[in-house]
Amino acid sequence: MSAATPYNGVHSLLPARNRVSFLTCHDKTRLVSEPLDALGFALEPLAIYDTDHFGTFSREVSRTGTAKDTVLAKAKLAAELAGLRFGLGSEGSFAKDPHIGWMPWDYELLCLWDNERQYAVFALAGSGATNYSHCEIEDIDAAVKFMDKALFPEHALILGKPGDAWFRKGIRDRDWLIDQLHWLLSSPKRIWLETDMRAHLNPMRQAVIREAGVELAKRLSSRCPECAAMGFAVVRSEPGLVCMDCGISTPLASAHTWECPACAHIERRPVTTKAPAINCEFCNP
Ligand SMILES: [Zn+2]
Ligand SMILES: [Zn+2]
Repeated sequence: MSAATPYNGVHSLLPARNRVSFLTCHDKTRLVSEPLDALGFALEPLAIYDTDHFGTFSREVSRTGTAKDTVLAKAKLAAELAGLRFGLGSEGSFAKDPHIGWMPWDYELLCLWDNERQYAVFALAGSGATNYSHCEIEDIDAAVKFMDKALFPEHALILGKPGDAWFRKGIRDRDWLIDQLHWLLSSPKRIWLETDMRAHLNPMRQAVIREAGVELAKRLSSRCPECAAMGFAVVRSEPGLVCMDCGISTPLASAHTWECPACAHIERRPVTTKAPAINCEFCNP
């Protein structure tokens, strides 16, 4: 899409450098446009490419790289396909929570690629507020229990696995699903049910993608003091900030290392305050 082609009356008036091509099949633009708009970026959804090539949650296509590789590849492709300076990619993944390690956790990554200066800015949001789950059921009662726990039908479900004759995604019709299960279970078998995690069918994921959008805007607003590139951010922290009462080292950060994603300029910034005694293992064991 060239700058002369009106995308809509508003975006076409912006210079090409502020237009951002967003590779998304699942209507994520409305979730992240507000904080980026405030920075002067206009998102243009690019749905001409099927992002399922990068992998699906429902196992038809498995993702080959890490979430970070994938989101960067999407952002680069978005800029390339639209012929714009900026491309945006989005990628969700589900893993164990970072605290106790057994709850499902929704990680939403966003990546803005600057094709002119050839660097990327990443933002991550994570949340335990997810319905991500699956089960195998042998009777309707178990199915209904799973539906309720999965917050169905506000959140869509998947019936069966790829290869099953009854495999179907994006189900939001409770009566249809229950009829289908009655029919399938009329002969004894185990039926696979899982949550459909595609963003447009999962309001809980949408909330986390919104948070990632806010985080991305925050990162983009932080400029490198050397080259003015966006995304100057803390990449490492050193523990050991001393306690204000007893002077012993605490786990709080005593210095942060900031790095520019474009020119690799690095600054180590010591923390100039002392740690509150509440964070001290000696004063507050
Ligand atoms: Zn202390
Ligand atoms: Zn820089």
